[in-house]
Amino acid sequence: MRFSGKVAIITGGASGIGAATARRLHGEGASVVAFDLDEERGAELVRAAGGERMAFRRVDVADRAQMAEAIQEVARRHGRLDVLFNNAGIGSHSTTVDLPEEDWRRVFAVNVDSVFFGCKAAIPIMTAQGSGAIVNTASISGMAGDFNFDAYNAAKGAVINYTRALGIGLARAGIRVNAVCPGPVDTPIIARVNEMPGLREHWDERVPLGRFAQPEEIAAVVAFLASDDASFMVGAIVPVDGGLTAH
Ligand code: NAD
Repeated sequence: MRFSGKVAIITGGASGIGAATARRLHGEGASVVAFDLDEERGAELVRAAGGERMAFRRVDVADRAQMAEAIQEVARRHGRLDVLFNNAGIGSHSTTVDLPEEDWRRVFAVNVDSVFFGCKAAIPIMTAQGSGAIVNTASISGMAGDFNFDAYNAAKGAVINYTRALGIGLARAGIRVNAVCPGPVDTPIIARVNEMPGLREHWDERVPLGRFAQPEEIAAVVAFLASDDASFMVGAIVPVDGGLTAH
């Protein structure tokens, strides 16, 4: 029960990695508030958890005012904020020439601006209480180039270096900031991969473990980074990829 009495906000918490992390932290004693646009899945998450200590709030993470208001409201209601998991994200499969500017901006709004908005609201709260853990979801796509995912690669690369900068800057305030870099994970975001003939098999083949991760396998690492077990980890970029980036 590493999160007993602690309060966690998880963006993109209604599905995939976010929902698995919400269940994991809740199972370890946290009060969890999942932010997401998907109200149906959000309601299902709360129902499955029995309602107690699990809440959902509809928040567009790309909207600064919504993020600020929602984060302050959680801290007001619970009297503290211990964990912020900036995880919401969207995929983008396109080359630069074919990518409309508005799609580039949307990928950055959801995958990068949201992290800034979350941190901007959470840092003063965590600084005042003298402790906190922020975990960002980057991707192996931010560590090295990926064919035809230009905007997504750029956005996840930004999340990685932003994590390092925050980690260094906030360590002495008692706030640890780290990032996970998942490899391929079985969640709705990779639906397109499953649709393209042969692509799933291609990725299975490339991963040394020979398969995609389940969201719970990413959640376990996020829970570790968010917990006091990771008390000496700051600005770490942690691949959770079945060995994909090891070769
Ligand atoms: P997912 O689609 O299951 O979950 C993403 C969630 O984010 C969804 O519930 C969606 O509604 C929510 N979301 C999207 N835009 C939002 C917005 N503007 N405001 C609020 N919520 C919004 O996918 P996932 O795989 O669990 O993705 C979680 C994170 O993991 C993303 O940042 C993604 O880029 C990253 N990631 C995923 C993989 C993978 O293979 N699945 C690999 C590396 C990184």
